[in-house]
Amino acid sequence: MNFTEFGFDERLMDGIDSMGYETATPVQEQVIPPIIEGRDIIAFAQTGTGKTAAFLLPVIHKLLTQPHDAQQINAMVIVPTRELAVQIAQSMEAISYFTSVSSIAVYGGNDGSLFSAEKKALSHGVDMVICTPGRMIAHLNMGYVKLDGLRYLVLDEADRMLDMGFYDDINRIISYLPKERQNLLFSATMPPKIKKLAASILWNPVEISI
Ligand code: AMP
Repeated sequence: MNFTEFGFDERLMDGIDSMGYETATPVQEQVIPPIIEGRDIIAFAQTGTGKTAAFLLPVIHKLLTQPHDAQQINAMVIVPTRELAVQIAQSMEAISYFTSVSSIAVYGGNDGSLFSAEKKALSHGVDMVICTPGRMIAHLNMGYVKLDGLRYLVLDEADRMLDMGFYDDINRIISYLPKERQNLLFSATMPPKIKKLAASILWNPVEISI
């Protein structure tokens, strides 16, 4: 399937072209249309399948084509590790290069020197935050994170997050978010605890297995 078939915004198409992507991967083909429609998703896909672009592209498209508040955080991607946060932030930067969509990675393990830059973005508004759970909670505890406009939540590598003991942290973060939002859950495997998490946060999800 060619990317022209999704009806993406032109500025986003320029980003896709610059990445050298020509045809959508199977996971992209299956998850992009329901995400654009506004459905919740649970997708079982391994790394290397193009799963990152499968959620970044439709979320960027929606941010470009639907009114949203630039003074708020509009999308949150929660990931298990800082390496993954940095990697997704780099993909986001490249894909959204020709658009006005802003993003920031927020992750623990740095010496704290990035904390004030993170605080500034989280309190003034940024379209997308890509975060690890512990660091996000550290910011949430301080009370300045602008979440009233949050409309898209992505849990990436959810099984790995649960293996690392982040179940309570994820639920804690979710407790701060507006109830009305679109939820996208990606996981490589399908253990019972993922089903439990999915049942508690997804609404009538489209289930996709690659
Ligand atoms: P991921 O599974 O998200 O880690 O992506 C694996 C690799 O595939 C990354 O290097 C992406 O840039 C690349 N990729 C994602 N979508 C496409 C596509 N449609 N065509 C070619 N490469 C892609």
